[in-house]
Amino acid sequence: MPNSPFTPGIAAGRLSEAELAGNFTDLHSPLDAHQATVAADRCYFCFNAPCVTACPTSIDIPLFIRQIATGTARAAARTIFDQNILGGMCARVCPTETLCEEVCVRQTAEGQPVEIGRLQRFATDLGMANGHPFDQAPATGKHVAIVGAGPAGLACAHRLAMRGHEVTVFDAHDKPGGLNEFGIASYKSVGGFAQAEIAWLLGIGGVNLRQGQALGHDVTLAALQADHDAVFLGMGLAGVNALRADGADRENVLDAVGFISELRQAEDISSLAVGRNVVVIGGGMTAVDAAVQSRLLGAENVTMVYRRGRDRMAASRFEQDLAASRGVRIVTDAQPVAVHGNGAVREVEFGYTRTGADGLEGTGETFRLAADQVFLAIGQRLEGAPDALALQDGKIRVDENGATSVVGVWAGGDCADGGDDLTVTAVAEGRDAAEAIHRALG
Ligand SMILES: Cc1cc2nc3c(=O)[nH]c(=O)nc-3n(C[C@H](O)[C@H](O)[C@H](O)COP(=O)(O)OP(=O)(O)OC[C@H]3O[C@@H](n4cnc5c(N)ncnc54)[C@H](O)[C@@H]3O)c2cc1C
Ligand code: SF4
Repeated sequence: MPNSPFTPGIAAGRLSEAELAGNFTDLHSPLDAHQATVAADRCYFCFNAPCVTACPTSIDIPLFIRQIATGTARAAARTIFDQNILGGMCARVCPTETLCEEVCVRQTAEGQPVEIGRLQRFATDLGMANGHPFDQAPATGKHVAIVGAGPAGLACAHRLAMRGHEVTVFDAHDKPGGLNEFGIASYKSVGGFAQAEIAWLLGIGGVNLRQGQALGHDVTLAALQADHDAVFLGMGLAGVNALRADGADRENVLDAVGFISELRQAEDISSLAVGRNVVVIGGGMTAVDAAVQSRLLGAENVTMVYRRGRDRMAASRFEQDLAASRGVRIVTDAQPVAVHGNGAVREVEFGYTRTGADGLEGTGETFRLAADQVFLAIGQRLEGAPDALALQDGKIRVDENGATSVVGVWAGGDCADGGDDLTVTAVAEGRDAAEAIHRALG
């Protein structure tokens, strides 16, 4: 092995192939049948269960757990898929610690929730191995266009197909899946699960995927409206926020999502280069994923810097602890002031912050961190939305049914205003918009 974590600069192969393979295995190992029964037995099958209310897709959690407990895991899978057709991916990536498991009565009483996420994975893995569970309703003769083959677009497409509509999904990328394929951390979705799940979902029939078709380049909203009975936009947030600091354009100051995407698509992880010293700017899930993955690739020093306190970080406490457990240093209350270097970045200068009467302000005290690579995880923004649509807070304005300001056009997922930017929320919004479209086409 020519390189190690101590090799200066940016280098590939800092760890042995065996170490890399070990580092990029499943974050949460799957439960076996016995473990699932034991975990399911901890559920009280609560009436008015708080876990159901906390789930954006409102899965009947006590029911599916009871079905596992009674040895009918395939029925449990069906219960999950009824509400959330991407229940397999959500079982892997949902921040359950801030959703269903946070409010589980066993969490509030004992600090140890029922392992809802792992039980969901147990049921959905089994269910998916048994083929596609739904059929299309008789054809309605209606045709819906969807823009974006991410969780929102796929959930919408599936539900529309179930209702008997023909669906064509236009997606800018060469592969479907959106951030399920290009954004979710490698250790959360292993073994090509995103593509396997899409192939399984398409088992419903009636959904045509058209990759390499970007709205605004290859297709226009007006043409989609003219050729279809309704349009759903699930185009996510394709733009990334720029860093406003002197020297931000230096070499090796990179977008964290691009780095994660490269990792997800890499056939040989040992060929991926990472810095000896990595600085990640941001406090959300993307920042944690970029920081953790840098460490897993063998970076010696990885520091995540967030401009406010830990309690304001979008990354959950579980994710913060995950980062710390992988050796990531988390610095809070500091914001970048300048990126130094000669061509490429060498150091990032930060200024400490505090909350003053007018919001966040600098204390005047600064410090520098050595950096071969800087990953920016300071948010994404809507890009390429058709001009005809009204926006709100930088996203497409929608009503409670996902209808936009343009008649016959719906939107959901990250590109639409309201709701958390989470896979499960995108699925819920895609599904609900499909039902609204179905009613409108009725
Ligand atoms: C790095 C990262 C890690 C994340 N990790 C998690 C996690 O662990 N758990 C979790 O719950 N959430 C996570 N999220 C958030 C989650 O991935 C998103 O909320 C979710 O993917 C949103 O789904 P979507 O369908 O709205 O958009 P996307 O997944 O972004 O999909 C949008 C699709 O639209 C396509 N598209 C974009 N523009 C156009 C256009 N002009 N024309 C045609 N097609 C277009 C894209 O190619 C893409 O396929 C993460 C996000 C990031 C960035
Ligand atoms: S809150 Fe916990 S114990 Fe109650 S039904 Fe949900 S998972 Fe079971």
